[in-house]
Amino acid sequence: MTHSTPAIVILGQGALVTARRLQQIYPGAQIHGLSGRVEGADRTYEDFGGTLRDLYQQDTPIIALCAAGIVIRTLAPVLLEKGVEPPVLAVAEDGSAVVPLLGGLGGVNVMARTIASAFDVAAAITTSGELRFGTCLLNPPSGYALGDLEQGKRFVSDLLAGHSVRIDGAAPWLDQAQLPENPQAQRSIHVGSAARALSANELLIYPRSVAVAVSGDMADLPSIVRSALQQANLALPALACLVAADTAMASSSLREAAIELGVPLRFVSAASDVAQLARSVSPQASIIASSDEIAIAVSDQPLDVAQIGRPRGRLAVIGLGPGAAELMVPAVKAELTRATDVLGYETYVRMAGPFRDDQVQHCTDNREEMQRARHAFRLAAEGRSVIVVSSGDPGVFAMAAAVLEALHESADPAWHSVDLEILPGVSASLATAAQAGAPLGHDFCVMSLSDNLKPWSIIEKRLDLAAEADLALAFYNPISRARPWQLGRALEIIAQHRTPETPVVLGRDIGRPGQTLRTITLGELTPDQVDMRTMVLIGSSTTCTFARADGRQWVYTPRWYGEKPVG
Ligand code: SAH
Repeated sequence: MTHSTPAIVILGQGALVTARRLQQIYPGAQIHGLSGRVEGADRTYEDFGGTLRDLYQQDTPIIALCAAGIVIRTLAPVLLEKGVEPPVLAVAEDGSAVVPLLGGLGGVNVMARTIASAFDVAAAITTSGELRFGTCLLNPPSGYALGDLEQGKRFVSDLLAGHSVRIDGAAPWLDQAQLPENPQAQRSIHVGSAARALSANELLIYPRSVAVAVSGDMADLPSIVRSALQQANLALPALACLVAADTAMASSSLREAAIELGVPLRFVSAASDVAQLARSVSPQASIIASSDEIAIAVSDQPLDVAQIGRPRGRLAVIGLGPGAAELMVPAVKAELTRATDVLGYETYVRMAGPFRDDQVQHCTDNREEMQRARHAFRLAAEGRSVIVVSSGDPGVFAMAAAVLEALHESADPAWHSVDLEILPGVSASLATAAQAGAPLGHDFCVMSLSDNLKPWSIIEKRLDLAAEADLALAFYNPISRARPWQLGRALEIIAQHRTPETPVVLGRDIGRPGQTLRTITLGELTPDQVDMRTMVLIGSSTTCTFARADGRQWVYTPRWYGEKPVG
């Protein structure tokens, strides 16, 4: 198992020095500091428990600079849900102790040793096999797969009980291990890609040295791949990747097959048949042509999958929500971790960050939306994992429509093959409404008051009809320096249909530092109370307010219309 860059989590200023030393060992790792306690961290968090559990559940390795007990207590509720888990370590604030806690199969002991040797202390390794043999036999390096975990555990305890072992096959990473080796031993560590029955006397380790080339869309691809491997007497865990022609990039059966088989999918251009596809895997590999539709490349070394063709590019148009991290959907958080390239208006890219050193940020001016969308497709078509960042929801006066427009205009098959996904966010109108109560609790109309991309006459018409229809109104882009008079005109139109007592909610920088929320009436509302960072919600004829216990006001629009239903 290889994991992503770790997160370094600290609770106090005193831990920052040690955290920076850890960052030198893991360049790109970010320091998460408790808000109000730590100055100068890369990221701040409010809630220690939530942050730690989120990281753990997103499979991010965690180095927490605090008591081991705190980490255990905090992660306890989510531990049982996990099969394979990320490494989790507790490191003493002053760097004097390094304690691997979780993720033995994820390489936690390797991390503990690396950190401990940099800090010149001993790692608190407690795994008996690892102590005795100097390596975790059940955690072979990347490029190799363990045959069976349960059987492997029994095998290691046999060795601990005194049995000797021989190594059968090439296991270069065991050269440094202190194993009780004996060429006559009954028990063996067997390394090879051939299919082999489980035996109590063998620890099976498969080099991921096999690639299967497939011709494209085929029904029931996983079982075709499995039976082709079986016929060639190759073990499934030795499968490193599936290879297909790039013309088949958008095929959903290929994608599903790769997920089911648990291997990456790589694409190669301009191959005449599957045998040629397979040959592109590695010049040293031997090729087994199973049929016209499937060919197998077998190497004697683990394959470096990153060197084979390229992956399908991905483009995710994401919504950050209004600003606060708690209001960002988990799918967006995961996408931020996986991205290689981030595009967007600088303010939003900064809000989405910080990013690792290996993530490229392409900040642009807010107005260049179509250019940004095309740039995103060019990058994704190269096989990169690109995100385009919007605030709130990407489909609400934001980048999703621009991205789709760019795709619709393009005839480039590489753009159409990109794995495009739109990930929603909490839009400013909804975030503002939630804080005020439920002003949008009945039918409502969402409008942008910007006449940059539509004529003002259509805005007036829609305002007039929406106000006449007695919809509650939510205004985005209500005013700007370039559009100073439009809001005043809009309010005149609304005043023709609403009383001056109609409740109005003004939310400014909602979910961001310094947010303000005000409840006033339509009669009190003047354009100078509003700027481009404000969301304006105007009630319908039924919207009402009442005092909250804290002295502020609740605003809501009842679910019914006309006569209040009984009960
Ligand atoms: N996609 C965004 C909207 C972009 S349009 C969304 O779904 O929220 C930009 C307008 O949204 C701003 O002019 C402002 O009216 C509103 N807005 C965006 N974020 C806001 C926030 N945090 N607080 C209040 N209004 C906000």
